[in-house]
Amino acid sequence: MNASKELYYISTRGDKTKLTSSEAVIKGLCDDGGLYVPEFFPKSGISLDELAGYDYKTTAYEVMKLFFTDYTESELKDCINKAYDDKFDDESIAPLVKKGDQYFLELFHGKTIAFKDMALSILPHLLTTAMKKNRVDKEVVILTATSGDTGKAALAGFADVPGTRIIVFYPKGGVSRIQELQMVTEKGRNTKVVGVKGNFDDCQTGVKLIFNDETLRKELEEKGFVFSSANSINIGRLIPQVAYYFYAYGRMVKSGAIKAGDKLNFTVPTGNFGNILAAYYAGRIGLPVGRLVCASNENKVLFDFFNSGCYDRNRDFILTSSPSMDILVSSNLERLIYHALRDDAVKTASFMKELRDYGKYDVGKDKMAGFNGFYGLYTSEDEVFKTIRSVYEKTGYVIDTHTAVAAAADIKYRSMGFDDHPGVVISTASPYKFTRNVMKALGADVSTGDDFELVDELESISGVKIPPAVEEIRNADIIHDTVCEKEDMKEIVKSSLI
Ligand SMILES: *Cc1c(COP(=O)(O)O)cnc(C)c1O
Repeated sequence: MNASKELYYISTRGDKTKLTSSEAVIKGLCDDGGLYVPEFFPKSGISLDELAGYDYKTTAYEVMKLFFTDYTESELKDCINKAYDDKFDDESIAPLVKKGDQYFLELFHGKTIAFKDMALSILPHLLTTAMKKNRVDKEVVILTATSGDTGKAALAGFADVPGTRIIVFYPKGGVSRIQELQMVTEKGRNTKVVGVKGNFDDCQTGVKLIFNDETLRKELEEKGFVFSSANSINIGRLIPQVAYYFYAYGRMVKSGAIKAGDKLNFTVPTGNFGNILAAYYAGRIGLPVGRLVCASNENKVLFDFFNSGCYDRNRDFILTSSPSMDILVSSNLERLIYHALRDDAVKTASFMKELRDYGKYDVGKDKMAGFNGFYGLYTSEDEVFKTIRSVYEKTGYVIDTHTAVAAAADIKYRSMGFDDHPGVVISTASPYKFTRNVMKALGADVSTGDDFELVDELESISGVKIPPAVEEIRNADIIHDTVCEKEDMKEIVKSSLI
C-alpha cells in the first residue's frame, strides 16, 4: 500500500475522538454535533499524465484509497465495482463534453439521472463493508424523509444490497408526478416507500422522532436491526465525489485542452455545499485546481457569504426552478469554515452555535483570505431560463435548470477576467429530470399536457434519447401504495420490520 499513513477523522467542533474512516462512515455525525473531517490532507501521488489514461473506476480507487485508509484494496475495489457498473447509462460514468466554448462534466448518467447517484451508488457498499469490518452484526435500516430527489437516489442505491433495508417517506401530493412515480415503482425487495398525509417537514419530523425513540431502538436492536441515514454530511458521500474532479482533469489533459500541471477552474451549482467541497478536497490533496466558482440560485446565502464574510440565513426562502439548490443552511460549509480557519475547531463551534441561536455568524473580513480559492456568484430565475435557451440556440445542447445556474455563473466569471484558466461546468441533472421548466425555457407551451408528453417533445428537440430512468417509469407497475397519517409513521416502520 502506498497510502503510507493511517488517516483518522475528527470533529469540526473540537471533540478529539479519532475514528477510522469506516467507523466514521457508520457513525455519520459526531457526538458534539460537528462533522467528520480528515485529521490531515493526504498527498496524492497520482501522476497527472497517467491520470489522463485512467478510466473512472481506476481514478475513483486512486483517490478514495487516500481517504479510506482502513479499507483494504480488495474491499475498496469491490465497492467501486459494485457502484459504477451498468447502472450508469454511459460507460465513461461521468462524460466530459464540450459545447460551444464551455466544458460540461455530466454527472447525471446514474439511476436517477442526477449527481447524487455518484455518491449514493457507492455509499451502501461502503457502509455494509464498514459494518462487517467493525463486526456490527446487524441489518442496517435506512430511514429517509424526502422532498423528492434524495429519496429515489437512496432507494436506487440501497435496492437489493444485502444486509440493508430502506424506508422512504415522502409528502403525498408534495412531489412531482415523475418524482412520485420514480419512487413508488421501485422494485428492490428491501425497499418500502410511504406517502405521508402532510408536508416535507412532517415527514422529516416523523423520521427524527423515530431516530430518537430509545425504546424502539432497543426493541429493534434485539431483533437485529440498527438505524442509519443516507445523509449528505456522511464522509461516505463526500469522499466519492472527490474522484470525479480528478477524472474531469484527466479528460481535459487527454483531449489536449490543458497540459498536465495547468490549473483548471470548476463552476459548481451549489446547495448543501457537498459537491463543491469535494472539489476543494481535490485541490487540497494535489489536483491543480484554480478557482472554484460557487454558483447559487436566488437563495444566494453563499454568494453573500463569499462577498462579505457574513453567513445569514434570516431571509425569505425562495422556491426556484432549481429546487435541489433551494437551501438556506448549507451544512457542508461547516467543513470549509474549519479548514479555512486552519483547523480552528473552537471558532467553528462558536460560529455554528451563533448560526443555531441567531441564524447568522460573521467570520470577519480579515479572515476571508482563507476562502480565496472560492468565488461566489448567483443566477436569477430570468437568467436561468435565458441561459438554457441561449446554450441551446448556440450549440443544440439542452441543459437542466441546476446546470444553467452554473453555466451562467461560468460565463460571468470568465467575463470578469481574473484569470485565464479553462473551466468546467459541473452538470448535476439531466434535462429530463426537470422537463417542464426546461421546455418552458425553450419556448414550449407547458400550460397543458402531462410530463411525459413534454418528455417526448424534449427528445425530438434535443436529439438525446430518453434515458432508461425515465422510460422505465412510464409504464411501470405501482409497487408501493401505502399512505399514512403522520402519527402512524412509527407503526409502519415497526410492522415492516417485525
Ligand atoms: C443536490 C443537488 C445540487 C446541490 O448539490 P450540493 O452538494 O447540495 O451543493 C445541485 N444540483 C442537483 C441536481 C442536485 O440534486
